[in-house]
Amino acid sequence: ARAFDVHSVRSDFPALHQQVNGRPLIWLDNAATTHKPKAVIDATSSFYSRDNSNIHRAAHALAARSTDLFENARESVRKFLGASSAKEIVFVRGTTEAINLVAQSYGRKNIGAGDEILITHMEHHANIVPWQLLAEQTGATIRVAPINDRGELILDQFATLLNGRTKLVAITHVSNALGTVNPVEQVIALAHAFGVPVLVDGAQSTPHMPVNVQALDADFYTLSGHKIFGPTGIGVLYGKSSLLSGMPPWQGGGHMIKDVTFAKTVYNEPPEKFEAGTPDIAGVVGLGAAVEYLMSIGMPAIAAYEHALLEYATESLATIPGIRPIGTAANKASVLSFVIPGIPNVDIARHLDKHGIAVRAGHHCAQPAQRKFGVEGSVRPSLAFYNTRDEVDTLVDVLKRLPRN
Ligand code: PMP
Repeated sequence: ARAFDVHSVRSDFPALHQQVNGRPLIWLDNAATTHKPKAVIDATSSFYSRDNSNIHRAAHALAARSTDLFENARESVRKFLGASSAKEIVFVRGTTEAINLVAQSYGRKNIGAGDEILITHMEHHANIVPWQLLAEQTGATIRVAPINDRGELILDQFATLLNGRTKLVAITHVSNALGTVNPVEQVIALAHAFGVPVLVDGAQSTPHMPVNVQALDADFYTLSGHKIFGPTGIGVLYGKSSLLSGMPPWQGGGHMIKDVTFAKTVYNEPPEKFEAGTPDIAGVVGLGAAVEYLMSIGMPAIAAYEHALLEYATESLATIPGIRPIGTAANKASVLSFVIPGIPNVDIARHLDKHGIAVRAGHHCAQPAQRKFGVEGSVRPSLAFYNTRDEVDTLVDVLKRLPRN
């Protein structure tokens, strides 16, 4: 890994070097999506310029190249997540599709009337609604583990919600609304003591910290390409081989079969069993470049840099008159949600935009988490490893000069 230098890193990201409303862009909307390094843009462009083919290795030269690029990316993702086999890496559209796949395949087979699915109060809608759909279809019940006033999971209450009826735990590793880092290793150990498998939503962890699915002993783990500096529309479902191989297909079509007759179809093995149809091949190639790029910098170095930047930003934001942080967990990553009572969130975001600063204002697809704090939404600056202290200083400066009535 190369020594971490934020200025050298920034030079890898073309989109960061532009003016917005006459000011240098300050991108603090990383929890929504991240910008792409040249390595990702080049890999995608080179795929379409040279290699473009459907993936069926044996047919011809370009097919062989495309297939190799596709499978090399799967191996890169395996390394990035610390999975034991590339067969445990399923390409999907993103975290949303990964969770829906588990709900409709694993869930429909293993979860029935009276069974319980345990989630937490801080989940993204993508880790709530698919379970509600499953519950409607099967008669299962959703239980919600509470969080405290800082936005932390109350672990002993989580533990008391586990019982003989619990069939699955689904929990986010990092909250996109509050920034809370959940103790997923402990959560998984508690669930496993009841024989309950755990799905971890890794959409907001994978951009900011090293993840090793084997060390965590996660049963399912998800990521979204666009949040880890890769393309949109591509993501990953990691699943333990023992679970994937017992799961029925979710979507049917080409590529996921071994043999089809009108009487009976024999399915392919995982991961192909879950990859029906022509995949987003260029997206996979771009995602492979993104994780290789991140590994070349080193996730531990990224985590250390961001942790210091988050502490600096948290202290700086606290100096703004009237500000109320939403989510003050002891262990946080990236996210600095806040409200300033008396000033609408969108007014704050629009004012920041006039100064070239991009943040999100809204409910962040986590309405129950917001409402727990008595708000319908917040302003959400969110950091990535290409952000600087100077950018945080500008954010705080502009917020200090907000027009107030
Ligand atoms: N979970 C979390 C914690 C998220 O932050 C997001 C994206 N905002 C998602 C799930 C959904 O990811 P995607 O939209 O990429 O499918």
